[in-house]
Formats: sequence, structure tokens, C-alpha cells
Amino acid sequence: MKRCKKCGSEPARRETADLSGSSSGRRGVKNEVRITVRSFPCLTCDCGAERRFLYPDFGAKYRPHLSEDLPHAERSLFGKPCCSGCDERLSAAEPTPEAFELRIDLEKAGPITTELVVPAVRCAACGKTQALFDRQLDSDISEALIAAMDGQAIRP
Ligand SMILES: [Zn+2]
Ligand SMILES: [Zn+2]
Repeated sequence: MKRCKKCGSEPARRETADLSGSSSGRRGVKNEVRITVRSFPCLTCDCGAERRFLYPDFGAKYRPHLSEDLPHAERSLFGKPCCSGCDERLSAAEPTPEAFELRIDLEKAGPITTELVVPAVRCAACGKTQALFDRQLDSDISEALIAAMDGQAIRP
């Protein structure tokens, strides 16, 4: 691991403050997505100038969970959103921002609590709240995560 040019110390794992960011105002974004990662684990030097991922493929291991672990509606054969809890068709109700807390357990990093606020709908039949997931939302989640990393100057 490269030493910090400023303080000369080697970056090591430290508990950092919560990391948060929003997709708002970023190019190509359609949904407002907010992300908060509780005590984001990363490598930092003594002075804090060097901030890096815990290991090189950390981002590639962590990112897919944000989509896969998020409770989201399924698509019927005809592309209509269906409840992931009871299979009922979801009405065309306007989605509202809802917070979902995900506990992402990575083999080398341990559990990382992540809160995502995304547009979601509630199933009228069983009451389950779920995101209306599509490629646009997937991309907007990435933008929120990038904004959060940029805010703390964390590099891969
Ligand atoms: Zn330093
Ligand atoms: Zn349902």
C-alpha cells in the first residue's frame, strides 16, 4: 500500500463517518436517490488525505447489493409491476420516496449498513412497500453512490 505523500503513514482500516450522497443534479438522472452508508469502512492515512477502498474490487462487490438487496417490484410477463410479496398487480399509484435499510454483508469487509431512499409504492393487497426498479433507477442509484464517494474523496 502506497504511503501518504503528506503524512508518510500507510493507509489502514478506520471507521469513518457516515457517507452520504444524492443523485440530484447529476447528468441523466430521473429519480432522486439518497444513499447513506453508516461508518463506511475504508483505508485512510493518519492525516486523512489518502482515502481508498478496503480492497481493489470492493466497489464491484458492494455495488450490486444496492440493487439486489433492495425490496423491489417484479415485472409480469407483460412488463407490468407486480408485488414481490404476493404477486398482486401494483396499481399505477404515484411512487413516493421511501427509506430502505440494507445490511450488506461482504466476506472481507463485514456488515455494512446502508440506507437508500428511492421512489417506492405500497401494495394495496399485502401492504409491502417496494421500489419500482428499472434500469433508470439502477443507474440513478449508481449516481448517488458516486456522489457520496466524491464528497469524501474516496478513490477505488
Ligand atoms: Zn496522510
Ligand atoms: Zn402484495
